[in-house]
Amino acid sequence: MTASRVDFSLEFQHSYAEQLPGFFVSLEPEPAPNPSLLQFNTALAHDLGLDCEHFTPDVVEQLFSGNSLPRDAQPMAQAYAGHQFGNFVPQLGDGRALVLGEVLDRNGKRRDIALKGSGVTPFSRGGDGKAAVGPVLREYLVGEAMHALGIPTTRALAAVATGAPLMRDRQLPGAVLTRVASSHIRVGTFQYFAARGQVDSLRKLADYVIQRHYPEISEEPRCYLSLLTRVAENQADLIARWMLVGFIHGVMNTDNMAVSGETIDYGPCAFMEAYDPDTVFSSIDRAGRYAYGNQPSIALWNLARFAETLLPLMGHQDSDEAVAEATAVLETFMPTFQNCWYSGAKTKLGLALGEHLGAADETERKLIDDWFELLAAHKVDYTLSWRYLADAVEGQVGNLRTLMTESAELDAFLTRWNEALKDLPKVVVAEELRAKNPICLPRNHLVEEALAAASDAGNMEPFKNLLQAVRHPFTETPTCARYVLPASSEFTASYRTFCGT
Ligand code: AMP
Ligand code: MG
Repeated sequence: MTASRVDFSLEFQHSYAEQLPGFFVSLEPEPAPNPSLLQFNTALAHDLGLDCEHFTPDVVEQLFSGNSLPRDAQPMAQAYAGHQFGNFVPQLGDGRALVLGEVLDRNGKRRDIALKGSGVTPFSRGGDGKAAVGPVLREYLVGEAMHALGIPTTRALAAVATGAPLMRDRQLPGAVLTRVASSHIRVGTFQYFAARGQVDSLRKLADYVIQRHYPEISEEPRCYLSLLTRVAENQADLIARWMLVGFIHGVMNTDNMAVSGETIDYGPCAFMEAYDPDTVFSSIDRAGRYAYGNQPSIALWNLARFAETLLPLMGHQDSDEAVAEATAVLETFMPTFQNCWYSGAKTKLGLALGEHLGAADETERKLIDDWFELLAAHKVDYTLSWRYLADAVEGQVGNLRTLMTESAELDAFLTRWNEALKDLPKVVVAEELRAKNPICLPRNHLVEEALAAASDAGNMEPFKNLLQAVRHPFTETPTCARYVLPASSEFTASYRTFCGT
């Protein structure tokens, strides 16, 4: 069956399809029997320049379930491979997603619009091609929270329930997510062609990525090496940003690492509460490969896989030389990550103000290390500990003391921190701390509550309220009070998130 075509107000372009033939399969979404809108992202629609005034509720439901398509959309399932938990799978690909094409947003930035959960494709590998309401809403919510926190991410434009049940460990309502991304090109996209020895395809892909994401390096003689450098820099920055808000991606397979530097594929992800670098939430990550504290080394491991795919393009007769050059780039990853991490932490401590601007110096790094040691020793709520620093600077140390139960190390830290703040006005520092340390994140028990209400009872109220709260993560309001406290330790002890199925 072919989907009906409707006016969309935004013109679609198809640079991927035009420049990379053979990298995808064209096909239409499966129809949804009884679509109903769960959530629509008006703010994102505005950023895209999408004029939705003429969209009736019926048009919205038909469009964002895949029952009808924008007139000039050309849906395609993209091919990719990937290392899943360290094991190489030569063919993954969009098994339940279709990229409709690209639009230019209000800033002229090219963005993919894709459906996820829109039915089987040639890449489905026995899966049903579907997504359930719960995981679709998790991706929506966490993506919006990350965006509000200033972290590069794909975002959801709409979530529509399909009206069709799907079978998981029990029957669940199905849904389609409309996803907006800088692109959907992953490390695994490169691996797909590298594994097949298709060097010409790899070069086309690399040239396309450079043109689309890193045009500033396109004239460089060693542009493929520069591509590795730029992707590595973006990943270092991204992972530091994740970790500074306590985010755990949960499934950092190479097919879930976008070369654009955006966070992609929110499956079994979560925000850490009690600080512990070994924290794992994903039910499928039994060995803790993707634990909070492993994320930088896993990103580097993934980048090494990316580098391997680029070696044949590096223009050397001698492959040892290409390996040496790529290795030199990879060796800069950890120092770059550390710089991003320390400058982010410096900002979160209110130390990046006035004359203190600039990279964290040795003394500041030591102070930051000691703060993290304190968090780990007391296993305290990560988000609240930082936020309470704003009260501490105003002389209200009670909240922090309660968290860290009268610790002498806390007092020693506070003394040194105050010395580091020197003569910065307290009111300015407190304001900075509240602007840089969120109070409201999608805490796990709240996410579960919201998803369960939507999925089990069709009640979107808790989701909508939580979404509203996490869109203003730095603002403490009377209505957000119930969103700021951690879950009970019993809840956290048994909490697991499940792969986005
Ligand atoms: P993910 O864990 O969502 O990143 O997906 C990993 C791979 O499995 C990708 O190739 C997906 O397209 C595919 N996949 C995940 N869920 C399904 C499903 N229900 N049906 C078909 N393919 C799926
Ligand atoms: Mg994926």
